[in-house]
Amino acid sequence: MKILAADIGGTSTKVGLCSEGGQLESFKEYSTEWARTGLNPVDVLGEIFAAYSGFDAIGISTAGQVDSAEGKIIYANDNIPGYTGVRLKDSFQKRFGVPVKVENDVNAAALGEKHFGAGRGVADFLCLTYGTGIGGAIILGGELYRGHTGSAAEFGHIITHPLGRPCNCGGLGCYEQYASTTALVRNAKEIDKLYNNGRIVFEKFFQRESSVEKVVQDWVFEIALGLVSLIHTFNPPAVVLGGGIMEQELLVRMVSDKVKELIMESFSDVKILKAELGNKAGVLGAASLHLTRVS
Ligand SMILES: [Zn+2]
Repeated sequence: MKILAADIGGTSTKVGLCSEGGQLESFKEYSTEWARTGLNPVDVLGEIFAAYSGFDAIGISTAGQVDSAEGKIIYANDNIPGYTGVRLKDSFQKRFGVPVKVENDVNAAALGEKHFGAGRGVADFLCLTYGTGIGGAIILGGELYRGHTGSAAEFGHIITHPLGRPCNCGGLGCYEQYASTTALVRNAKEIDKLYNNGRIVFEKFFQRESSVEKVVQDWVFEIALGLVSLIHTFNPPAVVLGGGIMEQELLVRMVSDKVKELIMESFSDVKILKAELGNKAGVLGAASLHLTRVS
């Protein structure tokens, strides 16, 4: 079976033809700039997909809140105007005559790691993605746990600071206000406004710039705080950390050490793993929507 797999994000859409074993025959990135031109997302994506042939199914990982049973977008922010309410599954099944499955990007990335990455052979694990915010997914018994209304694992909005910083969810003191890459950069910019992205912050950190070292250490503590509560709740054998900033082995090790320092003794065999699939996690996860469950 060959699967046309797409990962639709606010800045780029990645598309690949994937085999059942997770081999990508092609992998291409398209700018999502069209989203800001008022074009119909289904038309534009349909044209991109039409350039491919020989596939038996379409798997889609996408930004926004997804009704995976219906294969439609429940809500998307202004990064992709007009995307809310779009029925990806119905539209593409009709146009291409193959089964279509749709999942939100964080869940898809976790499934990708489960099938082809850090989660292989691990039946239960949590997956967290650190970036502008913090995304989460729960894999239980080899499958996604979606929750009562499909919204489980909003780990970015567990509260780590009662009555703390206001969050865009309307709450106060949410985890992502302190432990996202955005939070790291916000704190680093207070030292020097040139520290305006995670890459620069870590360059300075590796150069042992002491003020930046303190900011990074404090941020690692914030990351660990949330993880400790989640590990105490789920008692998982593993937690997989993804997102661009977590590509750095050293950072994952620092987080792991801090977690082990803070956690109850009986939970301390939990493994904190770096996600393995990088920017292909969404595409491979989208493809895996059509594969049978692996334990
Ligand atoms: Zn929040």
